[in-house]
Amino acid sequence: MLTRRDVLRGALIGAAAVSGAARLGAGRYDLLIKGGRVIDPSRRIDRVADLAIAGGRIAAVESRIDPSAAAETLDAGGRLVVPGLVDIHTHARSKEMPSLCLADGVTAIVDAGSKGADEIDQVVEVAKSAPIHVRVLLNIARQGIVSEGELLDISRVDVAAARQAIGRHRDLIVGVKARLSRSVAGANDLEALRRAQEIVKPFNLPVMVHVGDTASPFPAILAGLKSGDIVTHVYAPPPHGIFDDGGRLLPEVLAARRRGVRFDIGNGRIAHITWEVAESALRQGFLPDTISSDWTEAGRTDQVFDFPNVLSKFLLLGLPLDQVIARGTVNAANTFPAFKDLGTLRVGAPADVAILEAREGRFEFVDNAGTPRTGRLKLFTSAVVLGGKRVARPVA
Ligand SMILES: [Zn+2]
Repeated sequence: MLTRRDVLRGALIGAAAVSGAARLGAGRYDLLIKGGRVIDPSRRIDRVADLAIAGGRIAAVESRIDPSAAAETLDAGGRLVVPGLVDIHTHARSKEMPSLCLADGVTAIVDAGSKGADEIDQVVEVAKSAPIHVRVLLNIARQGIVSEGELLDISRVDVAAARQAIGRHRDLIVGVKARLSRSVAGANDLEALRRAQEIVKPFNLPVMVHVGDTASPFPAILAGLKSGDIVTHVYAPPPHGIFDDGGRLLPEVLAARRRGVRFDIGNGRIAHITWEVAESALRQGFLPDTISSDWTEAGRTDQVFDFPNVLSKFLLLGLPLDQVIARGTVNAANTFPAFKDLGTLRVGAPADVAILEAREGRFEFVDNAGTPRTGRLKLFTSAVVLGGKRVARPVA
């Protein structure tokens, strides 16, 4: 039965989202997701509830919503109903990639610096044709990611060319990316970071730095970051990681967090995360702000596989389910203003929803050192809703 509150809320939504025409009864909602465990960390919700969608937006989250009020009902009994997943470190190099992510329950991604000024139009094309929300970080090197290391020759960082590229795609480019590891930047890490900040200054955009085995110690890199900037691969193994020689978290890391620097995982495949570093950081209370996949073609069949798999590694590491979900939804969305409406099941937000199964069993996960560990719980995607519409998924 509808409660008084349901009726009141329904009337409000009828006015707001369904242009005043809707009344109580059949068709008030386009889709009802029924009986799932709704986890929405943006509003600290974790309880069994029904979720209704109308006009492509979240219309209601209530203990019970009458199915006769909805055109279509999706049974989510025994499943998790969470905001569409947001992965802020991926590589959208092919047109197929965003669709593959969507099938995993990922409804918003950021391409983290695959291309620089010279070829940015390629990523922009992928972003524009994608079914999901895609934003782009411009690689500070004109040539983008280069296997032999794009910043070993610092003249590849052309501030004017980068600014011009951002100016041309102001709607899609949400910051810049600088890979600062020794193999990529050699001794140029701090100069590259300085130029990255110079590039974004007129646009007031964040810099994402890729760390791990940098020539400079971690505090020297943190000193070049401003509020809103992002460190990815934060659980990279030494040298020059987040710990001192005694394995204690560096005070500069917490100081950077206090002034608004954000810390991201970027699972990837090579030297970005080990169980040891992750465990020690979590034990010392240093949790990442966001979990991301650093998804690439190669990662699809090795270590990364898909975003729910990456999130599941943090369940194995002992992070509670709602905190894991927060790091792949609301926290990720809050990293970029372009995603401010995403990562939430708040009434009125775009109806991007992932329906996940937390399956119990024995599941093997691997870190970048190739060390396998067995987890007892793993997230699988069972259904996806994007902009209020159910997404047809290949049978897993
Ligand atoms: Zn990456």
